[in-house]
Amino acid sequence: MIQVEPDIQQKLVILGSEAADEVTDVPATRSIQQGIRHATGFIYTARQEGGGTTRLFKVLQTNACRFACAYCFTSCAIRRRRTTFRPDELATTFVILKQQQRVDGLFLSSGIVPDADTTMEKMLATVERLRFKEGYSGYVHLKLIPGASFEYIERAVELADRVSLNLEAPNPERLALLAPDKEFTESMWGRLRWASEVMRRARQEGRRAARSLTTQFVVGAAGESDRELLETVQRAHRELGLWRAYFSAFHPIERSLLADQTAEDPARVMRLYQADFMLRDYGFLYDELPFDAQGRLPRDKTPKEAWAEQHLREPIEINRAPRQLLLRVPGIGPRSADRIIAARREARLRDLSQLRALGVTTGWAAPYVLLDGRRPALQLRLW
Ligand code: SF4
Repeated sequence: MIQVEPDIQQKLVILGSEAADEVTDVPATRSIQQGIRHATGFIYTARQEGGGTTRLFKVLQTNACRFACAYCFTSCAIRRRRTTFRPDELATTFVILKQQQRVDGLFLSSGIVPDADTTMEKMLATVERLRFKEGYSGYVHLKLIPGASFEYIERAVELADRVSLNLEAPNPERLALLAPDKEFTESMWGRLRWASEVMRRARQEGRRAARSLTTQFVVGAAGESDRELLETVQRAHRELGLWRAYFSAFHPIERSLLADQTAEDPARVMRLYQADFMLRDYGFLYDELPFDAQGRLPRDKTPKEAWAEQHLREPIEINRAPRQLLLRVPGIGPRSADRIIAARREARLRDLSQLRALGVTTGWAAPYVLLDGRRPALQLRLW
């Protein structure tokens, strides 16, 4: 049979669509509940560290892969058409999309073939071409390939704005069920540690380097508990300076090793993000998360509400509480806490409409607060 090499447009369709499972942003609660993915073909929206969003061209360098990860569409266990972008082809394609003002940045991932270093060489050649030949200085998110050598990890950190490596599972035992060809401790966690170290050194020396490090987990395919996932996330925040963990609800892929397994409930993913916010942004400790005996977070309420029900016995005076205490009240986030502190310098806060105007979800906060010494009238919760 004669094999015809796909043209660039066909490669774009194949390699853009197969990058879909890489999460680029924390989905809005409504999107998770309704299973909405914010994407137009191969263009995705992502949040940036300093605030604001960006449109990313999300693409694979190649969908050829020698691994057989059970959750992955690109797995070599599944027969499908394989193709590869040459670095010059991919760089040119990105430049055209940029000139057409359809994208702001690049998110580049890849299948692994024939090995980690060869794969990273191609990805790095693509970004080097963009940076040094096409003069592109904008946003690049580059995946690190498990098992790649130190010099490739170091180069990726030098070239990109964000680097990431998907741990997929919280520990080696769970990973073995999902991705039997992958090794957790050295090839994955160890490479994240290298990247974190290179970033730290670059910051100290004032050199340009990636500013953030992220990872992603497949949720619900390996029998892992919420506790196991969040324990690893907490460790990654502490030891690697992880900027964010992303969670992807498992969905079975036809003809894959886990084709018969049921899809994970997206509500679980929402609770994991909420618990991670508690660790990252709200000052909670891992030991304070409200797990049940099986290590599960509650599904019928947010983890912060579950914590408040058990621990916030006395209402908190909004006009006096320090920021770290305000952040413990359900419905008050970092931004609304800052607004409350600014507003109460001007005038005492006396009713819920004032809190609502400051961005507080008052239906959640009302049972736990005092406003100028008085409990506010409780409202019925809508959600
Ligand atoms: S290494 Fe695993 S997750 Fe990555 S592309 Fe290959 S099969 Fe998919």
